[in-house]
Amino acid sequence: MIVYENLPIGGTHLPTSNDMLKILDIQDGNIEFKDHCVYHDEYKGEKSKFIEAKLTYTPMACVKCQAPNENYSLYRNGTQLSRITLPMAGIYPTYLLLKKQRFMCKSCKATFTAKTPVVKDHCFIANTVKGLILLKTTDAQSIKNIARDSSVSAPTVQRVINQEARKFQSYDRTLPANLSFDEFKYAKGQLAFEYIDAKAGEILDVLPSRDGRTVKSHFISHYSLRDRENVQTINRVGGK
Ligand SMILES: [Zn+2]
Repeated sequence: MIVYENLPIGGTHLPTSNDMLKILDIQDGNIEFKDHCVYHDEYKGEKSKFIEAKLTYTPMACVKCQAPNENYSLYRNGTQLSRITLPMAGIYPTYLLLKKQRFMCKSCKATFTAKTPVVKDHCFIANTVKGLILLKTTDAQSIKNIARDSSVSAPTVQRVINQEARKFQSYDRTLPANLSFDEFKYAKGQLAFEYIDAKAGEILDVLPSRDGRTVKSHFISHYSLRDRENVQTINRVGGK
């Protein structure tokens, strides 16, 4: 009998939330997974993998009126469920069913939803999937192949290319104060790298390799020292 290390034995060893973040290449520690959060179901005519999770944290201030969160002035007000396409984990199209915490502000009565660098607001494709699409485009792969490999439709691939690729053509932009670094599986045995405006959830650029020298030389050659010094935090929760 072969016993593999780290495999569930008799259902007693369950992956922790932290393990799930690593398995899915998700870099946001505010996303929590519970036991038994993975199941398979038919979706769009295909056997698919669904992973349930919750996004929650304590906001510092109201995003609308900027009033600081004091004495429970921002309170939890239900959740909003999003189905987010992730890069395939294994052989099935993979979806994150993310319950995003909603908050209400006592001062201005506004409501807002928790944010994550994993996905842009009002978007249902993980930034890592977008990054994968953009890298595969530079490999001159057909839209059809890219769609198959990234579990989204061909028109969605085209839309991502149109929306995102344009931004990367010029480098007359600055770096935001808060960055998020993301890694995802690209080619066999290769991890790609993307960096994201942590506040807006916007992909800023995608590199085919995560190797430290590539990343460093990219930042040095594309941004001025002043730009780079503007960065206050880099979020790489769950990174390897
Ligand atoms: Zn408010």
